[in-house]
Amino acid sequence: SGKAVGTGTIQYLTHEMDQQFTRKVQLERSLFTALEDGAFSLAYQPIINLKTRRVNGFEALLRWNHTALGSIPPAEFIPLAEEAALITPINNWVVLEACEQLAEWQQTIDPKLTMAINISPHQFQSDSFIRTLQHLISNKIISPRSVTLEMTENIAILQTQRTLERMQLIKSLGFRLSIDDFGTGYSSLQYLSAFPIDELKIDKTFIDGIDVGNVGLLDSIIQLGRNLNLNLVAEGVETSSAEAYLKTTSCQQMQGFIFAKPLSVDEVDKRFNSSTS
Ligand code: C2E
Ligand code: MG
Ligand code: MG
Ligand code: MG
Repeated sequence: SGKAVGTGTIQYLTHEMDQQFTRKVQLERSLFTALEDGAFSLAYQPIINLKTRRVNGFEALLRWNHTALGSIPPAEFIPLAEEAALITPINNWVVLEACEQLAEWQQTIDPKLTMAINISPHQFQSDSFIRTLQHLISNKIISPRSVTLEMTENIAILQTQRTLERMQLIKSLGFRLSIDDFGTGYSSLQYLSAFPIDELKIDKTFIDGIDVGNVGLLDSIIQLGRNLNLNLVAEGVETSSAEAYLKTTSCQQMQGFIFAKPLSVDEVDKRFNSSTS
């Protein structure tokens, strides 16, 4: 009977693996046309000043509504898009869309609003990405100073010289650079001072530590950012106690469910846009 149970378990696992594989193939196939199908949209999460709770800007977060499978989380489809070499056109669309939305909100909500956009490693190295940035400037869609490009630490450790030149090029166009999920990747303290970075986004895992009294690493990161004269943003702030603690530090900004989840354009307009309500 032991053998029968074992066989059943294997059959069950195989069936589950089959289903996962089928889903992956189905998603990959749909990814090729998702952009032209208009299946992508952006959600916008407010980034606020910790001291005043004023909205400084938003982070654009990609959403994919699949006709058959519903809403697919970015953690699932972005790796697939990277594998299929589709991330660069998709993410160039994100850059354009988010900047056009920013231009509108600077008119209707607040001219000082900023936009943070996630950049993938492939996109970062591509010429079409640089052309997209140049297009934003030459067509005067936004001022590059109001746009922050977020990249993970893993970009920074790869091909150091080339990465440095890329960052310098993007900085020379006037855009701000931020390191996302800071503290979770292969951190090298050397790249932090070598690269022209404006900001660190402190990963949620360090913020979660506040509620269990574990602030040692968080305090070190804040001290480091302060010493390097970098803007600091706390990610994933969910509790009022975490917000209260951060307020006592030199971290300037936060983003998290305690203030707002990622919002649709309509939700942002309702919540912040007094001129259209
Ligand atoms: P990220 O850039 O670190 O974005 C923050 C993620 O944390 C978002 O998840 C956001 O919804 C979530 N979040 C914000 N506040 C809280 C909170 O208080 N609690 C919790 N539990 N979560 C919070 P999302 O939208 O699922 O995005 C996941 C990741 O997918 C992003 O992490 C980013 O790495 C990637 N991503 C999203 N949009 C894009 C994009 O346009 N291009 C690229 N390359 N990557 C993207
Ligand atoms: Mg981000
Ligand atoms: Mg992050
Ligand atoms: Mg992340």
